[in-house]
Amino acid sequence: MIPVMLPMLGEEEAQAAAEAVRSGWVAQGPRVAEFERVFAGLVGAEHGVAVSSCTTALHLALIALGIGPGDEVIVPSLSFIATANAARYVGATPVFADVELSTGNLTVSTVDAVRTSRTRAIIAVHQGGVPFDVQALRAAASEWDVALVEDAACAAGSTAYGRPVGEGALVAAWSFHPRKVITTGEGGMLTVDKSDWAVRLRRLREHGMNVSAADRHASAKPILEAYLETGYNFRMTDIQAAIGLVQLGRMDALVSQRRELAARYHEMLSGIQGLTPVRDPSYGTTNFQSFWVLLDPEFGPGRDEVLSELAAAGVSARRGIMAAHLEPAYSDSAHLELPNTERITRDSLILPLHHALTDADQEHIVGVLSKLTGA
Ligand SMILES: *Cc1c(COP(=O)(O)O)cnc(C)c1O
Repeated sequence: MIPVMLPMLGEEEAQAAAEAVRSGWVAQGPRVAEFERVFAGLVGAEHGVAVSSCTTALHLALIALGIGPGDEVIVPSLSFIATANAARYVGATPVFADVELSTGNLTVSTVDAVRTSRTRAIIAVHQGGVPFDVQALRAAASEWDVALVEDAACAAGSTAYGRPVGEGALVAAWSFHPRKVITTGEGGMLTVDKSDWAVRLRRLREHGMNVSAADRHASAKPILEAYLETGYNFRMTDIQAAIGLVQLGRMDALVSQRRELAARYHEMLSGIQGLTPVRDPSYGTTNFQSFWVLLDPEFGPGRDEVLSELAAAGVSARRGIMAAHLEPAYSDSAHLELPNTERITRDSLILPLHHALTDADQEHIVGVLSKLTGA
């Protein structure tokens, strides 16, 4: 089978993990601090706060913003379900907004359409690596006096207005799950510019302690910790950070290679009617974390049939991005009409794109699609 995604893990990652083990420092320590510093630098933020996943990052961002019961958080239904769940974790109500068809992203008008006096925050997703219009949405959020949390789970290495996604964000949440462009196994990060935010987020990820366990152990003098508020154990380990540091060294090359493979797909798919592949938006570049294609009726067979035919031909494609409001966990929102969200989740599929994908693989995949549409 040609996998849809494949993490790029080499001997360097294996050695880095082994070194962390040999050092005896396996929980959050110096490697996590270094990983935070390097990652924040790459995405143009002042501070990075490493956590156990993007899901826990989103949860902490909403706590730090003081969001709670009675508050509404606008999210796209079109996203991995963790985006909406984050609002529920703090007792707030996720309110689903539709997305635009071309990028799969929230826009000022789709958010404005569901905004109420209770709206306290927006979690906008850089969908599958495609940046949302950061200038437009950040300006609108500040005009509305609503906090904008950026779910950048998939967007490491994407750019908007010539700057890395994450730069200038109030707070951005990142994922290092193997399904994303760079991985630490499981893992996440928050990036912020304000140092008081970084201090609070570090405290929240570590039981509310005023001094980190790593600093306490590293100190020559005994330090007594205090617990300032109810925190969590959302830490990343030094073994994960050791792997992550190697991955960060690969990030530029991985993103360039993904963009070359995507360009090749664009060329090869251009002759197929009724199939629209994801592209860079006018204001930025995607890392093509997900290479999705949207099918029109004129393509012929429907999405699920295409997925079955690809699977039968040894190609592991996936349905497009899910829609939370269509899942049982959000049955209270099942009545909503989100036409672009529903269209994308119903009619799109994600084609394989990873560092080991060969020219022959791409020809095979496009060959299956051409045959299906009768081209
Ligand atoms: C993957 C993903 C998440 C969750 O990331 P984890 O690190 O697995 O918790 C959240 N939001 C989006 C948009 C994602 O794609």
